[in-house]
Amino acid sequence: MAVQPSTTSKITVFNVGLTVAHVGLRDVLDHRERQRVDRTVAEADRARFMLGAALLRTVAGSMLDLPAEAVTVDRTCSHCGRWHGRPTLPGTALEMSVSHSGAVVTVAALLGGGRVGVDVERTGDRPVREVVAWTIAEAQFKAGGGSGLTLHRLPPPAPRHVLTLATNRAAATVEVVDATTLLPPSTSWQPDPGRRRK
Ligand SMILES: [Zn+2]
Repeated sequence: MAVQPSTTSKITVFNVGLTVAHVGLRDVLDHRERQRVDRTVAEADRARFMLGAALLRTVAGSMLDLPAEAVTVDRTCSHCGRWHGRPTLPGTALEMSVSHSGAVVTVAALLGGGRVGVDVERTGDRPVREVVAWTIAEAQFKAGGGSGLTLHRLPPPAPRHVLTLATNRAAATVEVVDATTLLPPSTSWQPDPGRRRK
């Protein structure tokens, strides 16, 4: 899908369930993302990060007309310079935000300038009101903070989850899609023949 110049901005929010994570998604990540996957001990955290990074690349690739593994993602932290910052796509007009919690991974994409921040949280035992307030604060922070941000409370992507979006593009339309079919299916993954030999 090639990028069409557009006069109205649209934000698309791509949701997937954690159950679609599979080891083949590691193949679309760059070496630093793979290192982070490999260093993450807790299985659910590892799956959430891998799925988030793979979904970000898959969405960006489809919007930039590139293979997911060819997308350049910069994760330099603006505070300390380490590789754990908010992902940006240098040299493109694509703004993205990633969030994962509980059973859900979500990526928001805005093409053509502007800021976007998305936050998903599993409510667990907490009062929904508290969780909503938390997601608002997180989404605003990810969208760069400050006044003039427009908030969108989006439909829960799974039971007992809250999803909130913030943007400085007040007129932007927001579309929420299930991104499961965008991801490479696990059947497409084959073990590297070299790795099977003992
Ligand atoms: Zn940092």
